[in-house]
Amino acid sequence: MYFASDNAGIAHPEVMAAVNDANKGYALGYGLDNLTQDTVAQIRAIFEAPEALVYLVPTGTAANALALACLAQPYETIFCAPMAHIQEDECGAPEFYSGAKLSLVGNTDKIQPDDFTAEIERSLARGFQGIKPGALSLSQVTEFGQIYSVDEIKALSDIAHAHQLGVHLDGARFANAMVALDVSPAEMSWKAGVDAVSFGATKNGCFGVEAVILFDPAKAVEFEARRKRGGHLMSKHRYLAAQMQGYLANDLWTRSAARSNATCARLVKALRSIDEVEFDSEPQANVIFCNISVDAHQRLVDAGAMYSVIGEADQRVSIRLVCDWALKDAHIDQFLKILSDLA
Ligand SMILES: *Cc1c(COP(=O)(O)O)cnc(C)c1O
Repeated sequence: MYFASDNAGIAHPEVMAAVNDANKGYALGYGLDNLTQDTVAQIRAIFEAPEALVYLVPTGTAANALALACLAQPYETIFCAPMAHIQEDECGAPEFYSGAKLSLVGNTDKIQPDDFTAEIERSLARGFQGIKPGALSLSQVTEFGQIYSVDEIKALSDIAHAHQLGVHLDGARFANAMVALDVSPAEMSWKAGVDAVSFGATKNGCFGVEAVILFDPAKAVEFEARRKRGGHLMSKHRYLAAQMQGYLANDLWTRSAARSNATCARLVKALRSIDEVEFDSEPQANVIFCNISVDAHQRLVDAGAMYSVIGEADQRVSIRLVCDWALKDAHIDQFLKILSDLA
């Protein structure tokens, strides 16, 4: 009963097979190999962006930090949600790589246009002493399992672009959001005004690769220098590309995301019929935030269930349940049985 995160499961066998296929003969290092060139071409095609820059890095933190460094200068600020991964979970890497400051917008999970405008105006009002607005970063799926609609992304991008800010999408769960919205990669990115995407693959089936996609080809020199200087240019680069090949082949990436979203939807539906469970938000992808009694929590933990505890108050425990593509129906049934037996 493993709901702790979608990075705890195995890498998908199709990804492992692709890595094994690539494990033959010689190939140039540092991304000069054919597999990497093919992968770049495939991602450009998937995003309908023939000019886009595509780079592979091993972690989401590296993808976010390097992408943001290409959007914001050291005297600028990057606007993000208060609980954004770049703020809470990256040990300051985005500030370290960009030199920019992070500014938290509003107090909601999803950034609201009015809060964003107010924060830009606040920073401009400081005049020459104020930090300059530099970029906007949105997490899609958000840290609380919510999804920005394409129109919401557009509205925020329009505000950003009106002030010459670049827009970054932290897509650690890009596929889960895209499948849930039933839109194309282009519609959820550049067509909605996004300038840079961290295209996650690790959580959804790989073991360590994410793509950075920059829609402005003029950023090539800067990104490549920053990647090398930051120690994120993989030498045996074909193994990053091989994972991505396995991930993209036969739509594994959308199949995996559809599966984890469907597993999550099934769990949500069943949880709704159990009085014990209260939802803290409406689940939209493959992540659930809900609260249960201390008693229920104890029984689940005793039975070996793994999940994150967000907080505890008034005999209720707020928890996060993440469904990955590999989660078994039997595990969900076992989890539900413990909760319904209590009732
Ligand atoms: C998992 C995750 C990342 C990537 O984190 P790494 O541990 O650096 O790979 C980035 N953003 C969000 C929102 C995430 O959930």
